[in-house]
Amino acid sequence: MSDVTPTPPDPSPPAEVLTIEESSGPPTVDALAGDGTSPDIRPENGSEAGRGAGEVRITWIGNATVLLEAGGLRLLTDPNFLHKGDHAKLGGGLRSKRLHEPTAQVADLLPLDVILLSHHHGDHWDEIADRDVPKDVQIVTTAHAAGKLRKAGFTRVRVLDTWDKVTLRRGSTELDVTALPGKHAPQPLAAIMPPVMGSMLDLRVGTGRCRIYVSGDTLMHDRLREIPERYPDIDLALVHLGGTRVLGILLTMDGEQGAEALELLDPDAAIPIHYEEYTVMKSPLRDFDAAVEWRRLRTQIHRLDRGDTFTFPI
Ligand SMILES: [Zn+2]
Repeated sequence: MSDVTPTPPDPSPPAEVLTIEESSGPPTVDALAGDGTSPDIRPENGSEAGRGAGEVRITWIGNATVLLEAGGLRLLTDPNFLHKGDHAKLGGGLRSKRLHEPTAQVADLLPLDVILLSHHHGDHWDEIADRDVPKDVQIVTTAHAAGKLRKAGFTRVRVLDTWDKVTLRRGSTELDVTALPGKHAPQPLAAIMPPVMGSMLDLRVGTGRCRIYVSGDTLMHDRLREIPERYPDIDLALVHLGGTRVLGILLTMDGEQGAEALELLDPDAAIPIHYEEYTVMKSPLRDFDAAVEWRRLRTQIHRLDRGDTFTFPI
């Protein structure tokens, strides 16, 4: 993987037809994609060999909002456009102040082929997203979030249960999105926290491939152990950190849990996101840095500034 390339996002050519294929339950025959439970067997690590002259660009907009561009496909995660000083609604009357200005607004990011939403929480989908995201953009998310989005007028919402997969195709670019287990809160707060999903993104651009894990707002929990059993070869992880605490209860991974998750998942590289963004986030990036160093992880950590783009060939 290359170093961080701080270049602005580059507008895509006009959208071709984006086709979506769903897959859930028992494996189905699909000549082009995996079966949703067993990942493709790749003879070589996608980030090191078998490169297909494709390029992946990952731009951190702020909080958990990331623009992924590859082979003409544009995917945005967890769109959060509240401004610095605004308060995100976290449920149960709880609110938290944003400490950074997002580095882009919706209009700067269009056109979008798909939005991947880990859960419907005010620091991941906010009133600006409700207002400005085009109502016909494809959104892949949880059943809980889908209900809220449909009520807000969004017309193309795809629900994924854990381990379900959708395949998106745009020209010769293919992306499998598989929902993974996530756990946002222990009892008693679980009752007011929305369900959350992690995601695995299996991207194919020509003959190039890469596998990207997006943690979502999860804590370390037992079911995360199923992920490396099914996906032993992750190229890149986007880890939601921050150590969010409400009423003293930890709701997202802090630095120590983030490092523990990376040790478990063993990706080649990781980009920390979702930290120091709101007042409820109590674990700064330096906690994660110290925990990664203490565990002597082999994972290469790429620390982006908000607005930076990380580019790598596949
Ligand atoms: Zn969050």
